[in-house]
Amino acid sequence: MDLRMAIVPVGRTDPVDVEAAVARIAKVLNKPVDLRPPVAVPKAGDDHARGQHLAEPFLAELRGTFARSGVAADATLFVADVDLYRPGTDGVFGYVDAAAHVAVVSVRRLREAFYKRKADPVKARARLVKLALYAIGRALGLPECREAGCALFTTTALADIDLKREQYCAACWRRMTTGAHRI
Ligand SMILES: [Zn+2]
Repeated sequence: MDLRMAIVPVGRTDPVDVEAAVARIAKVLNKPVDLRPPVAVPKAGDDHARGQHLAEPFLAELRGTFARSGVAADATLFVADVDLYRPGTDGVFGYVDAAAHVAVVSVRRLREAFYKRKADPVKARARLVKLALYAIGRALGLPECREAGCALFTTTALADIDLKREQYCAACWRRMTTGAHRI
């Protein structure tokens, strides 16, 4: 049985960026990916003092809202344009709840402007594709990969993302296309 992938923009995420990413993700996965209508930015996790959102409750509320919409998917990726953090971090690129098969990524830390560098939309889009491939793989229950060029390699630093290709290594692709997590 084929799994169904859904990508859901959160709030005022640039639709052109998300559409471009969805097309490239579908190409890598070699299957259609449903781009769903945007959902509102959750109230949960909103930290006014930091100007950020706490990733775990943020994703939990998104998941609840999406579940109530009655549209099912086997793996759901939310794409937000607000800065996320987890306890003990300055900020994170995203957060995965593998048990619930959902993940959220933020475009904020993928933009050069975030680091006070000259804007580079091409680079930012490539980063979104690679981060999304990572989050989708993890949401499907796959472990991180040790291969630096693989989309499932760790995404701790921006350099990790830039190092990757827009694809899974042969071993991860095998895991994704056979066995329990088959796409
Ligand atoms: Zn891999």
